Amino acid sequence: MNNLEEKTEKELIVAKIDNGIVIDHITPPGRAFYALKALNIDENFPHSVFVAINLPSRKFGRKDILKIRNMNREDLNIKKLGLLISGSNIAYIKDYKIIEKEKIKIPKKISGVLKCPGLNCITSQQEDVESEFTVLDDHHPISLRCAYCDVIFNIHEHISLML
Ligand SMILES: [Zn+2]
Repeated sequence: MNNLEEKTEKELIVAKIDNGIVIDHITPPGRAFYALKALNIDENFPHSVFVAINLPSRKFGRKDILKIRNMNREDLNIKKLGLLISGSNIAYIKDYKIIEKEKIKIPKKISGVLKCPGLNCITSQQEDVESEFTVLDDHHPISLRCAYCDVIFNIHEHISLML
Protein backbone atom coordinates (compact mmCIF):
# COMPACT_ATOMS: atom_id res chain seq x y z
CA MET A 1 0.00 0.00 0.00
CA ASN A 2 1.44 3.36 -0.93
CA ASN A 3 1.25 6.47 1.25
CA LEU A 4 -1.52 8.14 -0.71
CA GLU A 5 -3.75 5.11 -0.42
CA GLU A 6 -3.08 4.77 3.28
CA LYS A 7 -3.85 8.42 3.87
CA THR A 8 -7.06 8.20 1.84
CA GLU A 9 -8.29 5.24 3.84
CA LYS A 10 -7.67 7.10 7.09
CA GLU A 11 -9.59 10.10 5.80
CA LEU A 12 -12.51 7.89 4.79
CA ILE A 13 -12.69 6.42 8.28
CA VAL A 14 -12.96 9.97 9.65
CA ALA A 15 -15.81 10.75 7.26
CA LYS A 16 -17.98 7.79 8.37
CA ILE A 17 -21.66 8.68 8.32
CA ASP A 18 -24.22 7.86 11.00
CA ASN A 19 -27.27 7.31 8.77
CA GLY A 20 -27.68 7.30 5.01
CA ILE A 21 -26.09 5.66 2.00
CA VAL A 22 -22.57 5.08 0.74
CA ILE A 23 -22.02 4.38 -2.94
CA ASP A 24 -18.57 2.95 -3.52
CA HIS A 25 -16.58 1.70 -6.52
CA ILE A 26 -18.05 4.28 -8.87
CA THR A 27 -15.99 3.95 -12.07
CA PRO A 28 -14.72 5.39 -14.29
CA PRO A 29 -13.85 8.37 -12.03
CA GLY A 30 -16.07 11.41 -12.54
CA ARG A 31 -19.25 9.31 -12.77
CA ALA A 32 -20.18 10.49 -9.25
CA PHE A 33 -21.34 13.72 -10.91
CA TYR A 34 -23.83 11.72 -13.00
CA ALA A 35 -24.98 9.91 -9.87
CA LEU A 36 -25.67 13.22 -8.11
CA LYS A 37 -27.81 14.23 -11.09
CA ALA A 38 -29.69 10.91 -11.00
CA LEU A 39 -30.27 11.36 -7.27
CA ASN A 40 -31.60 14.90 -7.87
CA ILE A 41 -29.00 16.32 -5.49
CA ASP A 42 -28.55 20.02 -6.14
CA GLU A 43 -28.09 23.21 -4.12
CA ASN A 44 -31.47 22.65 -2.44
CA PHE A 45 -30.59 19.24 -1.00
CA PRO A 46 -30.91 19.61 2.79
CA HIS A 47 -28.47 16.91 4.02
CA SER A 48 -24.69 16.51 4.07
CA VAL A 49 -23.15 14.96 0.96
CA PHE A 50 -19.53 13.80 0.75
CA VAL A 51 -18.22 13.55 -2.78
CA ALA A 52 -14.85 11.89 -3.37
CA ILE A 53 -13.59 11.93 -6.95
CA ASN A 54 -10.60 10.11 -8.42
CA LEU A 55 -9.51 8.18 -5.35
CA PRO A 56 -6.83 5.54 -5.75
CA SER A 57 -8.29 2.03 -5.81
CA ARG A 58 -6.28 -1.18 -5.84
CA LYS A 59 -8.97 -2.98 -7.80
CA PHE A 60 -10.03 -0.27 -10.27
CA GLY A 61 -7.09 2.13 -10.46
CA ARG A 62 -9.29 5.14 -9.76
CA LYS A 63 -12.83 5.44 -8.43
CA ASP A 64 -15.37 7.81 -6.90
CA ILE A 65 -17.30 7.48 -3.64
CA LEU A 66 -20.49 9.23 -2.55
CA LYS A 67 -21.77 9.43 1.00
CA ILE A 68 -25.19 10.94 1.52
CA ARG A 69 -26.63 11.49 4.96
CA ASN A 70 -30.25 10.70 5.70
CA MET A 71 -31.02 9.17 2.32
CA ASN A 72 -32.76 5.78 2.47
CA ARG A 73 -33.53 2.89 0.12
CA GLU A 74 -37.03 4.28 -0.52
CA ASP A 75 -35.61 7.67 -1.61
CA LEU A 76 -33.68 6.01 -4.42
CA ASN A 77 -34.50 4.95 -7.94
CA ILE A 78 -31.98 2.13 -8.30
CA LYS A 79 -32.89 1.60 -11.97
CA LYS A 80 -32.08 5.22 -12.74
CA LEU A 81 -28.72 4.85 -11.00
CA GLY A 82 -28.17 1.63 -12.96
CA LEU A 83 -28.19 3.60 -16.21
CA LEU A 84 -25.21 5.64 -15.04
CA ILE A 85 -23.18 3.84 -12.40
CA SER A 86 -23.86 0.12 -12.83
CA GLY A 87 -21.27 -2.05 -11.10
CA SER A 88 -21.08 0.30 -8.11
CA ASN A 89 -21.92 -0.94 -4.65
CA ILE A 90 -24.44 0.73 -2.43
CA ALA A 91 -24.48 0.32 1.35
CA TYR A 92 -27.31 1.43 3.61
CA ILE A 93 -26.03 2.78 6.92
CA LYS A 94 -27.84 2.98 10.23
CA ASP A 95 -26.14 4.04 13.46
CA TYR A 96 -22.74 3.83 11.70
CA LYS A 97 -23.34 0.19 10.69
CA ILE A 98 -24.05 -1.32 7.29
CA ILE A 99 -27.54 -2.82 7.47
CA GLU A 100 -27.81 -3.83 3.80
CA LYS A 101 -25.69 -3.85 0.65
CA GLU A 102 -26.46 -4.24 -3.02
CA LYS A 103 -24.73 -4.03 -6.37
CA ILE A 104 -26.19 -1.55 -8.83
CA LYS A 105 -27.18 -3.36 -12.02
CA ILE A 106 -28.11 -2.18 -15.50
CA PRO A 107 -31.95 -2.26 -15.74
CA LYS A 108 -33.64 -4.00 -18.70
CA LYS A 109 -36.44 -1.46 -19.00
CA ILE A 110 -37.02 1.92 -17.44
CA SER A 111 -39.94 4.32 -17.48
CA GLY A 112 -40.70 7.84 -16.35
CA VAL A 113 -37.20 8.99 -15.39
CA LEU A 114 -36.08 10.48 -18.68
CA LYS A 115 -37.53 12.57 -21.50
CA CYS A 116 -37.35 11.03 -24.96
CA PRO A 117 -35.10 13.01 -27.34
CA GLY A 118 -37.21 11.90 -30.33
CA LEU A 119 -38.57 15.07 -31.95
CA ASN A 120 -41.91 13.59 -32.91
CA CYS A 121 -42.28 11.28 -29.92
CA ILE A 122 -45.77 11.08 -28.43
CA THR A 123 -44.25 11.24 -24.92
CA SER A 124 -42.93 14.76 -25.56
CA GLN A 125 -46.21 15.91 -27.09
CA GLN A 126 -48.65 14.48 -24.57
CA GLU A 127 -47.92 15.02 -20.92
CA ASP A 128 -50.05 12.10 -19.77
CA VAL A 129 -47.96 9.54 -21.68
CA GLU A 130 -45.06 8.35 -19.54
CA SER A 131 -41.76 7.72 -21.31
CA GLU A 132 -40.60 4.10 -21.57
CA PHE A 133 -37.29 2.72 -22.77
CA THR A 134 -35.60 -0.61 -23.41
CA VAL A 135 -31.98 -0.65 -22.29
CA LEU A 136 -29.53 -1.87 -24.92
CA ASP A 137 -26.80 -3.01 -22.57
CA ASP A 138 -24.76 -4.58 -25.34
CA HIS A 139 -24.05 -1.03 -26.51
CA HIS A 140 -21.14 0.85 -24.93
CA PRO A 141 -21.85 3.21 -23.38
CA ILE A 142 -25.38 2.18 -22.49
CA SER A 143 -28.02 3.18 -25.02
CA LEU A 144 -31.79 3.33 -24.73
CA ARG A 145 -34.52 2.64 -27.26
CA CYS A 146 -37.82 4.49 -26.89
CA ALA A 147 -40.81 2.14 -26.71
CA TYR A 148 -42.92 4.65 -28.65
CA CYS A 149 -40.78 6.21 -31.39
CA ASP A 150 -37.88 3.69 -31.52
CA VAL A 151 -35.21 6.39 -31.35
CA ILE A 152 -31.92 5.03 -29.95
CA PHE A 153 -29.66 7.29 -27.93
CA ASN A 154 -26.64 7.17 -25.66
CA ILE A 155 -27.52 7.99 -22.06
CA HIS A 156 -24.34 9.97 -21.37
CA GLU A 157 -24.94 12.33 -24.28
CA HIS A 158 -28.48 12.95 -23.06
CA ILE A 159 -27.98 13.29 -19.32
CA SER A 160 -29.84 16.64 -19.41
CA LEU A 161 -33.04 14.74 -20.29
CA MET A 162 -33.06 13.05 -16.92
CA LEU A 163 -36.03 14.07 -14.79
ZN1 LIG B 1 -39.66 8.46 -28.10
